[in-house]
Amino acid sequence: MTNEIIFDDKLKEECGVFGVYKTASSTADYVYYGLHALQHRGQESAGIAANDNGVITQIKGMGLVGDVFKHCEFDDIKGNIAIGHVRYSTTGESDIKNAQPLVANCRDGQIALAHNGNLVNAGALREMLQDEGVVFMTNTDTEVIMNLLARNYKIGLVESLKRISQIIRGAYSLVITVGNKLIGMKDPHALRPLCIGKLEDGYVLASESCALDAVGAQLIREIDPGEIIVIENNEINCFKYDKWIKPKRCIFELIYFARPDSELEGVSVYASRHRAGEILAEADKDDTIADVVIGVPDSGIPAAIGYANASCVPYGVGLIKNKYMGRTFIQPNQKLREEGVRIKLNALAANVKDKSVVLIDDSIVRGTTSKRIVAILKRAGAKQVHFRVSSPPITYSCFFGIDTPSRKFLIASKNSIEKIREYIGADSLKYLSFEGMKESVFDYEKGFCTGCFDGNYPMEIPKQQDE
Ligand code: SF4
Repeated sequence: MTNEIIFDDKLKEECGVFGVYKTASSTADYVYYGLHALQHRGQESAGIAANDNGVITQIKGMGLVGDVFKHCEFDDIKGNIAIGHVRYSTTGESDIKNAQPLVANCRDGQIALAHNGNLVNAGALREMLQDEGVVFMTNTDTEVIMNLLARNYKIGLVESLKRISQIIRGAYSLVITVGNKLIGMKDPHALRPLCIGKLEDGYVLASESCALDAVGAQLIREIDPGEIIVIENNEINCFKYDKWIKPKRCIFELIYFARPDSELEGVSVYASRHRAGEILAEADKDDTIADVVIGVPDSGIPAAIGYANASCVPYGVGLIKNKYMGRTFIQPNQKLREEGVRIKLNALAANVKDKSVVLIDDSIVRGTTSKRIVAILKRAGAKQVHFRVSSPPITYSCFFGIDTPSRKFLIASKNSIEKIREYIGADSLKYLSFEGMKESVFDYEKGFCTGCFDGNYPMEIPKQQDE
């Protein structure tokens, strides 16, 4: 085996939210299991807020779900409604004060709110609120939402949510509990996922369906764009606050962020990545280039299997990922990043030595990881490395809850594919075409955001951000 430390060079998942309503028993332990299933969406902090007849108990901390709740006695956290959150900071520092859910007092008593996404006008709204004397305890845009919700609360919860949807712009999938209610809400573009599932004696809201599976809930459906769902007295009431905007779901959820065992709007994440691999293989059909197809763990593997099936080149394991790197891998602050926040990959020399390898990854961001992976495969004896990417070149930044470097650091924003190939040291390099990506998500016509590939964002981006 050849060991190599490599930089973490991926777009970072945003956050995961989870909520449970049950008719009687406690729910905090359900949220704990749900957050475990959503851990891939954020590893920086985790929190649970349980609602017992309007009285909210909250536990949150920095780190992985297992660490934050390791001394927790869930029997002591009462409440038949509970919500939870795992966070990766896209706005606000990595600090316990920014961990969610946020809890505040409003007209109807305590309210807890967990948010997945990012507002593009949070700065302006924060200034406006501060000018009016509002004091902020965190520097998250989630607190902006909480403040707007509280100040409009006199017109009722649902009306207040509808009103703030006219003010805030960006991505927001929200899970809220107040009184005897569990509420889910999605922005009018449905940028970030949020689904609802059924328990025998209640309901579950979750960022991804894999978290429903974790607690034995049955997927009902994805929450619609511009929809508010209120669960109370074991009944669901749905309110549509915006019917006119075309959905623009984040296409990167299918490419990389979501877990492969999740389903998004009826599409299996695994099947979509597998199809992307098949399409890459079809583009290579006239060049017999490989002895083995390998995937970069974990997210490149479904596409590698798809490529192998379509090309009849055998699939092999060529890279082993150390799954236990823990928090050094995910701490996102700049200093650690510059010093080399890292993951560790080993090449499985027995499977690549003296072979021509097709190497598949889901994306290339700065190119640093790809360069190092190619180098370790060559050092392990690979004769040739043909790099295939199961998405088009990333040429723009994201402003909707995904941590992307500014444009100038995205290797494909300034360099030709040949230049990128040269930089990463591969023998050949091909990306999935934009048309291929559309085909791989199966229902492209339903509406996707493709902003990081073509700069077509679903809304205007404030000028200074778009640089
Ligand atoms: S810009 Fe890219 S990562 Fe951001 S929401 Fe759109 S598709 Fe997703």
